[in-house]
Amino acid sequence: MTNFSIAIHGGAGTITPASMTPELEHAYKTDLANALEAGHRILNEGGSALDAVEKSVLLLENSPLFNAGRGSVFTKDGKHEMDAAIMCGDTLAAGAVAGVRSIRNPVVLAKAILEHSDHVFMSGYGAEEFARKYKVAFEPEEYFYTAQRYKQWRDVRDTDLFILDHTVEKKFGTVGAVALDKAGNLAAATSTGGMTNKNYNRIGDTPIIGSGTYANNATCAISCTGHGEFFIRAVVAYDISCLIEYKGYTLQQACEKVVLDKLVKFGGEGGLVAVDAHGNVALPFNSEGMYRGSKVNNNEAYIGIYKE
Ligand code: ASP
Repeated sequence: MTNFSIAIHGGAGTITPASMTPELEHAYKTDLANALEAGHRILNEGGSALDAVEKSVLLLENSPLFNAGRGSVFTKDGKHEMDAAIMCGDTLAAGAVAGVRSIRNPVVLAKAILEHSDHVFMSGYGAEEFARKYKVAFEPEEYFYTAQRYKQWRDVRDTDLFILDHTVEKKFGTVGAVALDKAGNLAAATSTGGMTNKNYNRIGDTPIIGSGTYANNATCAISCTGHGEFFIRAVVAYDISCLIEYKGYTLQQACEKVVLDKLVKFGGEGGLVAVDAHGNVALPFNSEGMYRGSKVNNNEAYIGIYKE
């Protein structure tokens, strides 16, 4: 039987039932389920993993609940700077953007770079020029305003603190997706507004190929969320791929080694979603919760928030 799978996340952090209302929980689950189903539909109809992960991430970027695209957090100077990346496991082609402003869907810009440029990684003004050339949509500053994130920023803007999204103290809100399509190709995509009150021009792990995002048909596809500085230094996504490629670990073993052992010892809080070349899915996290979902073949979809 053909194996195809998709897994998504909407960020990890101190997410507990006590920090949630039933209405909010319902809203998160609905937006996660819609993003999961949209990506799954593409795979089920024979579409590519690359298109599926782009679609799921785009829908999560359009939801104000998640720290990416529309719901992006505020930087130290009260702006929104977004990072995103996408990678194709078949060709190892990748596209990534850092610190872009006013782009409605940074994942679409990352995919345009993958498809139309010989470069992999663009930032700032040059990335925005590229977006204009390829008719990637822009939005005015107000589009990215959410009252909750404005409050988060207002509370810390006169300090040197920079905080992660999703709960009062520690919040991670990045979004991401990984998929295996019916042709056996893997892909990964990740998108984020970064961390509240981050220094302007600070770049996290999300757009760094091998740290926050990676896909390789020989091993797996990975999309991370968590304290980016640690994920960069631990080269998390590529580390998992290497454990599979060079040490023969299973996806689950590799994820547990990196997320539940190495990162914990290192102090790197967060998690990731992963799928391997056989369609196995892993959703490990070392924080209290992670917004997540997965669907393998046409089996029932799984949506989770808390530790189980
Ligand atoms: N990893 C992201 C960053 O450090 C934050 C997150 O996952 O919420 O920019």
